[in-house]
Amino acid sequence: EVDWFSLASILFLLMFAPLIVYYFIMSCDQYQCSLIDPLIDLLMGNKHLSDIWNKTPMLTYKAAGIYTLWVAFQVVLYVFIPDFCHKFLPGYVGGVQEGAVTPAGIVNKYEINGLQAWIITHVLWFANAYYFHFFSPTIIFDNWIPLLWCANILGYAVSTFAMIKGYFFPTNAKDCKFTGNFFYDYMMGIEFNPRIGKWFDFKLFFNGRPGIVAWTLINLSYAAKQQELYGQVTNSMILVNVLQGIYVLDFFWNEAWYLKTIDICHDHFGWYLGWGDCVWLPYLYTLQGLYLVYHPVQLCTANAIGILILGLIGYYIFRMTNHQKDLFRRTNGNCKIWGKKPEYIECSYMSVDGTKYHSKLMTSGFWGWARHFNYTGDLMGSLAYCLTCGFEHVLPYFYIVYMTILLTHRCMRDEHRCFSKYGKDWKRYTAAVPYRLIPGIF
Ligand code: NDP
Repeated sequence: EVDWFSLASILFLLMFAPLIVYYFIMSCDQYQCSLIDPLIDLLMGNKHLSDIWNKTPMLTYKAAGIYTLWVAFQVVLYVFIPDFCHKFLPGYVGGVQEGAVTPAGIVNKYEINGLQAWIITHVLWFANAYYFHFFSPTIIFDNWIPLLWCANILGYAVSTFAMIKGYFFPTNAKDCKFTGNFFYDYMMGIEFNPRIGKWFDFKLFFNGRPGIVAWTLINLSYAAKQQELYGQVTNSMILVNVLQGIYVLDFFWNEAWYLKTIDICHDHFGWYLGWGDCVWLPYLYTLQGLYLVYHPVQLCTANAIGILILGLIGYYIFRMTNHQKDLFRRTNGNCKIWGKKPEYIECSYMSVDGTKYHSKLMTSGFWGWARHFNYTGDLMGSLAYCLTCGFEHVLPYFYIVYMTILLTHRCMRDEHRCFSKYGKDWKRYTAAVPYRLIPGIF
């Protein structure tokens, strides 16, 4: 059942999320990243909406060509080039891997080759930038708004296709979820793991590529623009590129682990993931770099080092917390966490066909500090990205505000799901680990 609050939130997002993205990007393009000035102009009557719209770059053939080539290239890398990185990179898990058991009891196989796609794409990018010069490394920045229209077209097309597919030709009918509410189903998705053919998995493809592979390229394009405009790249831009680069590389290095995260294990594929991965992620997760093109902040050494340390500590917590759970679950608790045997709570749950399963919830390591300390690390890293931009404008801080809302909401959503799954065992767990994100506070 869809409660009124969920429905209201969904309608709000469907109507306003595309406008929010447009507003942010337009503010940078026309108002030097000020979020207030466009409003003042409109309220004071200095400008009409049509003036702003008329100054907005439209869809161009060039942008459509770039975007089509980009997505097609990522599809080719995903579908046609089996992973070879796991053959020579020690510790890297790639190639064919299994996902978690779905509610209908299906175990999907995935070709994990995201790291390879990222490496090939970036090698070609640098080869072009330093050797071939087929296109300018500022190409992404220079076509940013026309590309936004392309990303929207793909985001809406893929979400609509996923909805139709869910009704008429689902990959696994037993894993479909119909609430009967059109907007909810469109937004949150019907199919669990829509696929075309054996290997083209919508969730894995759209979550990781084209959005996350593009993330680091977008930042590189911003750095190139700074170089072009000011003759140098600021230390803040380097920090954004390095910290976000680590996060992106971490994602691809751990792509097999990613199969066990909420996105893949529990979320259905609808507009939330389809449009979100095509538009929201590449446009709003990269706002710091975009801001720094308009406001090239040069941080003093102490601030730069402080931000770097915050970002690295955040990343360490994020990675170690995720690693601890992964290790714990993979070894069924037969491992060492911080040099000791992990403590845990035994729990059980029932799948839809009535089969009883057993599981364990760890209560030691970072998982004994708070129930989602991985989110806390993620938030520290997010704050570090924002701080690189100084305090002149609020726009770059959108990311930390958004991540706080996203991860707090995700935490609640996950806990609600875990409570439905584990019942009284979940209560025992929350009694043993009483805090969600910040020990002693929340
Ligand atoms: P988690 O990796 O925290 O997974 C939550 C699941 O883990 C629960 O549903 C439960 O699943 C299991 N679990 C919960 N508590 C325990 C425990 N104590 N011991 C063992 N298993 C437990 O959540 P996400 O998938 O949301 O996040 C993965 C990472 O991705 C996080 O670090 C997050 O910060 C990051 N992320 C980043 C986003 C971004 O946009 N940058 C967006 C979303 C996530 P089960 O049913 O198996 O028991």
